[in-house]
Amino acid sequence: MSEPTVHTFQAEVNEVLRLVIHSLYSHPEVFLRELVSNASDALDRLRFRALGEPDLLPEGETPRIELIPNPDAGTLTIADNGIGMTAEELAKNLGTVAWSGSRDFVQQLRAAQESKEKGLQLIGQFGVGFYSSYLVADDVDVVSRAAGTTAAHRWSSQGKDTFTIEEAARERHGTSVVLHVRAEHREMLSEHRLRDLVERYSDYVEHPIELVIQRDGKEERRQLNRANALWQRRPAEVTAEQYEELYKHLARDWEGPLAWRHFHIEGTQMFAGVVFVPRRRGWDLFDPGQHHGMRLHVQRVFVLDEAEELVPRWLRFLRGVVDSEDLPLNVSRELLQDSRAVRTIRQQITSQTLDLLSEMSQEKPDDYGHFWNTFGVVLKEALHFEPDVKEKVIRLLRYESAGREGLTSLTDYVARMKEGQPAIYFAAGTSRAALEASPHLEALIQRGYEVLLMTDPVDPFAVSAIEDFEGKPLLSAMTAKLELPKRDGEGSSSEGDGDAAAHPLLERFRAVLGDAVAEVRPSHRLKDSPVCLVIPEGGMAPHVERMLRAVQRVDGPLGRRILEVNLDHALVQGLATVHERDGASPRVSAWIRALYDQAMLAEGSPVEDPARLARHLTELLQEVVRTEANRPA
Ligand code: ADP
Ligand code: MG
Repeated sequence: MSEPTVHTFQAEVNEVLRLVIHSLYSHPEVFLRELVSNASDALDRLRFRALGEPDLLPEGETPRIELIPNPDAGTLTIADNGIGMTAEELAKNLGTVAWSGSRDFVQQLRAAQESKEKGLQLIGQFGVGFYSSYLVADDVDVVSRAAGTTAAHRWSSQGKDTFTIEEAARERHGTSVVLHVRAEHREMLSEHRLRDLVERYSDYVEHPIELVIQRDGKEERRQLNRANALWQRRPAEVTAEQYEELYKHLARDWEGPLAWRHFHIEGTQMFAGVVFVPRRRGWDLFDPGQHHGMRLHVQRVFVLDEAEELVPRWLRFLRGVVDSEDLPLNVSRELLQDSRAVRTIRQQITSQTLDLLSEMSQEKPDDYGHFWNTFGVVLKEALHFEPDVKEKVIRLLRYESAGREGLTSLTDYVARMKEGQPAIYFAAGTSRAALEASPHLEALIQRGYEVLLMTDPVDPFAVSAIEDFEGKPLLSAMTAKLELPKRDGEGSSSEGDGDAAAHPLLERFRAVLGDAVAEVRPSHRLKDSPVCLVIPEGGMAPHVERMLRAVQRVDGPLGRRILEVNLDHALVQGLATVHERDGASPRVSAWIRALYDQAMLAEGSPVEDPARLARHLTELLQEVVRTEANRPA
């Protein structure tokens, strides 16, 4: 046999190792769950490959996982007769981190080392994995032989900087992980403890997990789990913990799921499955190349991970498993794409999930709020892409509302609507604070109308797919078409808009602002503010337009908006008086420009010429301060 070769871990591995140990030292037992989960995957993968290459899985050989404690040597071995690994695979799979390609991964790792809480968050996103072995062992050997090959190799490491690989002997294909357990964790070797851990963490595993012990020179075997697919059991037979452990295995998550639904469908298509809603976003939720979907089994045999065809993109946060009786075992991704069976499964997963969410929203509003803040932004995509479920999704929408705590549904909004309120109002922008201070809301708030606040970039698109809700149109507080009923005692507009529009001051505004605005007109929506900019019908919210332009790298001025002027405002009336006296005053022009800049600021847009605005402000302040200073004390 040749000498062992020494390899160095990829730098990230050292960080991950430290992170796992730092964050999970109080839960050392998770190592077993991780190693059993890997063994189970290895068995699934072999069984699947053997469909095409039957020689890989000889007749009479049962896939199984063995737990072999050796109290004398202080070792625990977790062995499987699964797909195994070649020397190259050992070096790659156990020497690098698969997810290290993710953006700013190392940076996140570093940040996470600082606190246990952050560490657990990160582990929640990426999974714990093989390196959890070092929670209980200070030396780990992995002896593996890839199915279909004759050579076996031993990977060894103390989990610090380097590992070695050398040739080894193994009778059959598969992998044995040998943990040299630290003295303080030797209780992990007891039958009682192993049985307890398997029952608690690994009962979902469909393959037998056997405890192998030597007693009086004889080998004894005991199966520790039920070894049938959890999703094939009746829901009443499955405990919450068992669902949670299945989820952790499927999602490689450290934390349990937020909610799940287990279903058996019997009709033209027969299938069973469980869908899970995670608690946290995966790191790649907004990565266009992100994989998603369910694990697919056909007649209990694992076929595909991340079968995207089973789940619409706007449910890409879901995890779970589907087991079909009808699909062929040799199903390929191509075949999935135009299969009727797959369409049925997808519809079922969609409706099961929407029902689950709807129930959660009724029965566990706090959980639902958490869901909404985590994944609502993805769910909203359905409004655009899936007209069939639009009505259901609309009921699941939640928004913040001006001046109110918490989230509001459209149903709640409508129930609170004032007598005679013509529409459901919303305002879209970049932050709650900016929206609540926006002049556009003044008249609505004054009439006691609620305004929904939309701060997701997708909101303006999503909401444009909803014409009305329970017969009430949805209207943006920022658009031109905001016809409000007159308030009591609101008499000043008796002169009629036609006359008001011809107001000489407005003519002056038009002359000064020229092409910068589409129109200048009297406002009915303002109370405390002199002016505001509104979006013409069919126009786009300025923050969205800016975002789109940034994405498409387009330059130039935004679409033109309408300037509304509050003719009842003292400032505007004063301006009108000055203008009346001197129709050509350059100061009136300067003030009009300053008002326009201020309207730009209020809607969150950058002003065209910040230096000009700064100059105006200085002049104005100077004047005010001088007057104040000259006043007798
Ligand atoms: P994950 O399971 O999330 O991929 P792990 O750290 O648990 O991450 O395992 C890393 C990789 O090592 C696995 O993806 C798999 O390729 C390989 N591996 C681990 N254990 C086994 C095993 N018992 N048999 C075959 N391959 C394994
Ligand atoms: Mg794993």
